[in-house]
Amino acid sequence: MHTADSLFRPDLLARYSTNGPRYTSYPTALQFREDFDHADYLRAAADPGAAQTDLSLYFHIPFCDTVCFYCGCNKVATKNRARARPYLERLKRELALQAACFNTSRGVSQLHWGGGTPTFLSDDEMAELMAATREHFTLLPDTQAEISIEVDPREASPRTIEHLRALGFNRISLGVQDFDPAVQRAINRIQPFELTQSVMDAARANRFHSISVDLIYGLPHQTVESFERTLDTMIDLAPDRLSVFGYAHMPQRFKMQRQMDPATLPSPAQRIAILQRVVQRLTEAGYVYIGMDHFALPTDELARAQAQRTLHRNFQGYSTRAQCDLIGFGASSIGKVGDVYAQNETDLQGYAAAIDAGRLAIRRGLRLSADDRLRRDIIVQLMCNLELRFDEFEAAYGIRFADAFAPELSRLRAFENDGLVSIGSRKLEVNVAGRMLVRNVAMVFDRYLEADTSQRFSRTV
Ligand code: SF4
Repeated sequence: MHTADSLFRPDLLARYSTNGPRYTSYPTALQFREDFDHADYLRAAADPGAAQTDLSLYFHIPFCDTVCFYCGCNKVATKNRARARPYLERLKRELALQAACFNTSRGVSQLHWGGGTPTFLSDDEMAELMAATREHFTLLPDTQAEISIEVDPREASPRTIEHLRALGFNRISLGVQDFDPAVQRAINRIQPFELTQSVMDAARANRFHSISVDLIYGLPHQTVESFERTLDTMIDLAPDRLSVFGYAHMPQRFKMQRQMDPATLPSPAQRIAILQRVVQRLTEAGYVYIGMDHFALPTDELARAQAQRTLHRNFQGYSTRAQCDLIGFGASSIGKVGDVYAQNETDLQGYAAAIDAGRLAIRRGLRLSADDRLRRDIIVQLMCNLELRFDEFEAAYGIRFADAFAPELSRLRAFENDGLVSIGSRKLEVNVAGRMLVRNVAMVFDRYLEADTSQRFSRTV
């Protein structure tokens, strides 16, 4: 295990901090094209060569009862619970439409409900959606499948958690962000500690395989001391995984962020100081830094997968399921099938119009070129396994790595001089001091990055 001091280098973090993609995909969604040919998706879905590949299903439930001011997700704020019903009916139709494109004897080893707020649906509606999913697809048994859901503790009682487990969910991810009441007021997310605690207790009592929690640093009124109190409270609750994201203030893009007074946001230096305390406290408490804001107990499957070099990354973040084809359901969801990315209509009207017309709701997408595939593989290896073994790429892609990526390796010499990476004749390794800046290393291999990424991507630190 690394000490916080070796992992956390404030001088390097300050120097390398820039705006960059989170690489839940490469190329990123910015490259998706409106003139994307849907036939590419259908061909990839029907590819007999994928018969042995598992499926992963993602369902986007966009509704939220109230809006958190920091949020950059695709969501619909409404208190009208009746809006869930027509959306659910369309998801069921979409399940049938997508199932008709795939060999549905392929096992589903990963399923995720995200949002928005998935538990905006009533218990009966959630049961209906899961039953429809099982009708059209083959979900693998509990021990072989990662069935996960994002839960807002304000929208879930212990009974809801019990219900979710009975429906087959076995991993749960809770939005918390910060326990401090002043911060909660400023972000319009009032969530008493007891609510979070009762949902976590219920998840344990119902034997969820993994409990994950999201926190955010860089929010209004946060200080090192206040966030340390949140961290200590959370460490006592002992989730298996923690994601501690840096808040990205982009009020030009996300209107609700204008509700927060920028003068109350921590300065860049305070953000780094808070992050330093995050790394210190969590590593002292026994969490392993996985990368990209993620920490996990050594017993958690993400930490074990990283140790075994089998960690992967997809649109939901880090994953232990490597080779799944991903089918997205609901407005704005993104699928990845073979070498094709496809994103649904992002607004509810467009989504409804497509499904009501009896067609898939795909709006835009991308078929990856050979160069995209190679660079995707490089970026996944860097983000997940923190090294590139050149011979693996040479065998898989018929290249000589040092020749094919001479300009990139030359740019990385500056990183090497700063101690972030080590470049040998056979591999490139991300050093401990470079782990928190792995996004910057990956960006060197991104063919699409433009000079000005300031309003499109979040800060790397
Ligand atoms: S953070 Fe979650 S609950 Fe809050 S508005 Fe965004 S999607 Fe809704």
